[in-house]
Amino acid sequence: MKAWWMNGIPFKCQSNCGKCCDEPGGIVYLSEKDAKRIATHHEMDVESWLQRDCKQTLDGRYILQSREIDDICIYLDENMQCVIYKVRPQQCAAFPWWGENLATQRAWNRVIEECPGLTADDAILIDGNTIRIQVFSDRESSKGFRQWPVNR
Ligand code: SF4
Repeated sequence: MKAWWMNGIPFKCQSNCGKCCDEPGGIVYLSEKDAKRIATHHEMDVESWLQRDCKQTLDGRYILQSREIDDICIYLDENMQCVIYKVRPQQCAAFPWWGENLATQRAWNRVIEECPGLTADDAILIDGNTIRIQVFSDRESSKGFRQWPVNR
């Protein structure tokens, strides 16, 4: 059966919003590609960047660090802007098209309440294939990696 969202969903991320990042305790899983891209952006090797800006979950997956004072992502600035927006983790770029958000009507209703981009006047129809690519991207990030370099 075709997923309900394959017909497309209107969306436009709203500048200066940042609501999806402004979440204490939010977890951003990282893919290998994220680690390489963001470390390069900081002109660091991946190991040093992982040590400086990341931590590991109880099961060992690397995630971004959050600020001690409010438990919000270290890369969200006071203007609610992501300071690494152009190279941001693919899980962040995939929002709101996370599998867990699209899985049930209840979860999706919650996302509609949280994300003004889904009800914005300037929202444009995002087609089902684009959404599917983002769902896979989020899934890949959630698997994450536990050591660097990654053993295959
Ligand atoms: S909550 Fe929605 S509109 Fe706001 S920054 Fe996140 S994706 Fe964009």
